[in-house]
Amino acid sequence: PMSLSDPVKSQRICVCVRKRPLNRKEIVKKELDVVTIPGKGVLLLHEPKQKVDLTKYLENQTFHFDYSFDEDSTNDLVYRFTAKPLVKTIFEGGMATCFAYGQTGSGKTHTMGGDFSGRTQNSSKGIYALAALDVFTLLKQKHYADMGLCPYVAFFEIYNSKVFDLLNKKAKLRVMEDDKQQVNVVGLREVSVSSVEDVIKLIEKGSACRTSGQTFANASSSRSHAVLQVILRRQNFLFGKFSLVDLAGNERGTDVSSNDRHTTMETAEINRSLLALKECIRSLGQNSEHIPFRMSKLTQVLRDSFIGENSKTCMIAMISPGMSSCEYTLNTLRYANRVK
Ligand code: ADP
Ligand code: MG
Repeated sequence: PMSLSDPVKSQRICVCVRKRPLNRKEIVKKELDVVTIPGKGVLLLHEPKQKVDLTKYLENQTFHFDYSFDEDSTNDLVYRFTAKPLVKTIFEGGMATCFAYGQTGSGKTHTMGGDFSGRTQNSSKGIYALAALDVFTLLKQKHYADMGLCPYVAFFEIYNSKVFDLLNKKAKLRVMEDDKQQVNVVGLREVSVSSVEDVIKLIEKGSACRTSGQTFANASSSRSHAVLQVILRRQNFLFGKFSLVDLAGNERGTDVSSNDRHTTMETAEINRSLLALKECIRSLGQNSEHIPFRMSKLTQVLRDSFIGENSKTCMIAMISPGMSSCEYTLNTLRYANRVK
């Protein structure tokens, strides 16, 4: 990937875009690729021409991000420029958060968790596992080993404004706010971990019980937000927390396949939480006093991510390359653009 600067190091918010390759189905359907990444964090959305006339399209459909990853980028590479620089933050007592945003089928789960289809056992290649690996590497370094930090993992899902514990038989959990505005997910299970293998087992266990929806692309789990947290505790007190969030699909209420009330409500709720998320990240970026974290359950639960001296956030906006996804892709790019 190309970048104009090194934003993660200096800034609190990093916004990137990742384009997935055309899949076999799309190739069979002769779907045309309408996304080009010419470099330097730039992304171009264009009409499907064999030869793109850059000068013509650069003017009205160009987007700039901290990094843009093309279809040849691996999870490893994406990780290195997005979540990896944030691992340090939790060892400094800070809060790090990484979001995967985008339309269903654009590659959020592929990027975060790897492939959980069961066909392959390559979940270790996602950002979840790569981040866990780095956490354990740092924990072994003398400086940090002496600090007495203990790692834990929590994994939960937010579906229709309700929180479910993915590591505890999807128990429904309450969210409580105390008089100091501290938000607590009551009874959320935090599992002590001592190796990357431990973390991967928990990821697989939790992913297997994510909520599946029957709408849109019919993909399982597209209607819920999944939050994996790697937590560092020191003498049982919270020291640092890394939240890795696989967001619900951002497809709009124009969802033609949904004409029942339940699905419409689901969609409205997802839109509301993604809007809230945008507002909260923007507030963080502007060092604003007021963070509107109560706008949704998602942002309420992630309140710690948006406050504090040492909070850092990275958003990876995933996009599908095909012509038929063009409208969704444009929505995603506009959203990611506004977050900055
Ligand atoms: P989402 O979670 O956004 O709905 P997925 O991560 O499930 O999307 O991706 C949809 C499909 O596309 C999956 O089969 C996944 O393996 C594949 N895919 C996504 N991103 C990539 C990529 N960068 N390279 C190869 N395959 C990908
Ligand atoms: Mg997914």
